[in-house]
Amino acid sequence: MQKQLAVSALFYFIVCSVSAQISSFTPKKIIGGISQKLIINGNNFGANQGNSYVSFNQESGQYLDAAASKALKYLSWSDTKIELEMPVAFSGKVKLNINGTDFMSGDTLKVTANLGYRSANPMVYEYLTNNNNRGGYTWYIHKTYWDIPEAKAAIEAVFREFRCKTGVNYILAPFSTQVGFNLGDTFNVIAPDPQLGPVGYNERLWTSCILGNETFYNIKSHDLHMSTSQDWYYGTGVCPAGKTKFRYVLYHELGHSLGLGHVNELGQSMFPSVSFLPSNTWSGRDSITSDERTAISYFINLSQNFTFRACGISPLSKVYDCQDVYGTNTSIDNVKYSPLTVYPNPANASIFLESVNLNLNETQICIRDYTGKQVIKTMYTEEGISVADLREGIYTIEIQTIDARYTAKFVKY
Ligand SMILES: [Zn+2]
Repeated sequence: MQKQLAVSALFYFIVCSVSAQISSFTPKKIIGGISQKLIINGNNFGANQGNSYVSFNQESGQYLDAAASKALKYLSWSDTKIELEMPVAFSGKVKLNINGTDFMSGDTLKVTANLGYRSANPMVYEYLTNNNNRGGYTWYIHKTYWDIPEAKAAIEAVFREFRCKTGVNYILAPFSTQVGFNLGDTFNVIAPDPQLGPVGYNERLWTSCILGNETFYNIKSHDLHMSTSQDWYYGTGVCPAGKTKFRYVLYHELGHSLGLGHVNELGQSMFPSVSFLPSNTWSGRDSITSDERTAISYFINLSQNFTFRACGISPLSKVYDCQDVYGTNTSIDNVKYSPLTVYPNPANASIFLESVNLNLNETQICIRDYTGKQVIKTMYTEEGISVADLREGIYTIEIQTIDARYTAKFVKY
């Protein structure tokens, strides 16, 4: 009896100590967060997943914990092969946990880009939408950069690059702004930030809309902070010693605005450090990388094709002319009609205008009578507009900017 027990205990020990082994995985280079399939080959993985899981190196330096690893999207699991959707990760060895015991791969899996998500299974993102009613997002250049021709040209070039390589419908407003950082306003600004510790910082505000059992997450506004403590180089090519390349930092921060997270692969714009070494060895290029292009394009495609419709949400439009960073060729169908207030109304002598969206000073105003005939065309000033010479009747005020058209009616008595 004693002997039989000993034998069965020994047998149990042998079964449990059989080593799993990762012999190979495919591909060796992968993008996280865009549902690319990773295939892990080897043996003794177990016939089914049970409590076992695959884990990956993270930006924190830790591996994804057991709960998060089990929540990844596994496509198949057998004793010799595991297939799963590649999550966001840093390059590193692949970790396999079989019933509580860790096994590491011999090779390193290289993660060249990461698209961030809210959940890995299924992958749920914070989508971009038709936020400006012109198919995407309008960014405002702060007067500081607007007034430096090289800085303005740098911003335009970087926008052209993203529009042409990824199809993102980002446009620049055709006038500068001096508004501060405020995610609650309608201004997505690119502006200097004297308080900023890092070189650059992209700040985003997401919002959600619930319809039935679906919660749709989307990006409501952005701001892009650029440090004032840098000695900026606005040009192209290799950055002169001691300076920080403005365009390269814009690639990195706009990459974040398009959903990208960091990677630890040298040569990528999303490598965490953006100035000096090591990024100075590759920041001389004036383009995003092909991996960044693949990851962002995947996200833009999702943002253009989602079917969710509620809370005024509609998808990102396709870019009409990718070189046209100010969106001046955009079809008039997309023009936004926004409220404009006229007071006093009815009016006898002068009228005054108010708009939340528009700086009215020195804006050209057109007033039409009830037949549509233009009766006044003038620049708006704080003195208002004299309507003393108009006949009694109903008139329409019209302001047409490149960005939008505003109309309001008033009564002359
Ligand atoms: Zn970053």
